[in-house]
Amino acid sequence: MNARELLSAGCRQGRTGHFSEPWERPVSSNECTGMSRQNTTIQQDFWCRLFSWRCIDECKYHCMWSAVKKLENAGRQVVKFHGKWPFKRIMGMQEPASVFASLLNLLANAYMYSKLRTEFSIKSRPMVLLWHLFALVCMNAWVWSMVFHTRDTPFTEFMDYTCALSMVMGLYVAAVVRILHSQKKIVATLLTGSLLYFATHVRLLATGVVDYDYNMTVNVIFGAVGSFIWLVYAGYLSARGSRYSSRMLWFVTCSAVVLPLELLDFPPVRRAWDAHAVWHLSTAPLPLLFYQFVIEDLRYTQSRQDKLL
Ligand SMILES: [Zn+2]
Repeated sequence: MNARELLSAGCRQGRTGHFSEPWERPVSSNECTGMSRQNTTIQQDFWCRLFSWRCIDECKYHCMWSAVKKLENAGRQVVKFHGKWPFKRIMGMQEPASVFASLLNLLANAYMYSKLRTEFSIKSRPMVLLWHLFALVCMNAWVWSMVFHTRDTPFTEFMDYTCALSMVMGLYVAAVVRILHSQKKIVATLLTGSLLYFATHVRLLATGVVDYDYNMTVNVIFGAVGSFIWLVYAGYLSARGSRYSSRMLWFVTCSAVVLPLELLDFPPVRRAWDAHAVWHLSTAPLPLLFYQFVIEDLRYTQSRQDKLL
């Protein structure tokens, strides 16, 4: 029996099964599977009700684990279900490891943002406003990452993809504005072009016609261009004897080293840690390096201005 037949055996027995009790929302008999019917005695917990896991979702979840056990018992490799590895839910969260890692990224951004806010007010200089906006874009992206990994729906997937791209493009935009801020026409042209591209890409994402690989390519390209600009700037600072430029060099190097984790794809370790979750975990310390560079760069420009006065 091949993997497909094993899955079919797990998921398509007895199409007459249906849930009336104790599930929240009964579905018609032809939506639920016989395999799920065996679990009708399982009461949905508080968390699953909170995150609106429907009867049909519960059917798919229990069916999936039933099929995974069959595969494992047959000595087969675990496969993806509807494009996703099987994850054990914790407190109603679909991918708890990715949620946890996204939370760490959010906390790292929030912590460094609070440091930046404490030292520099928006009124002090125009560049500070850029970093406030950048931090808010990043924190928003990590919130949606948590939401998406908690409960994967077309809407939460759209928000995760959109906000992740906004964060990657934010890194690129911040580099352009920081380095070319005196060249206002060039900055305005690059920003307008970037915003138009972002809007076009978001429209495509909303229609659902963009595939994962294309979206990933766009993220990698903007991430690479932004990182390259920051590297050039860090090299320039280093040549002028600046010590804090090393933080940016480490940030870009570490980001590049952990990136293959996102491009890799392996089944979840301990039913939780797949490549994507490990990648999110590995990026959690990076905001500490990046914002520390930003803070020291603001101090540097502040001291140069003070000398000119
Ligand atoms: Zn993610």
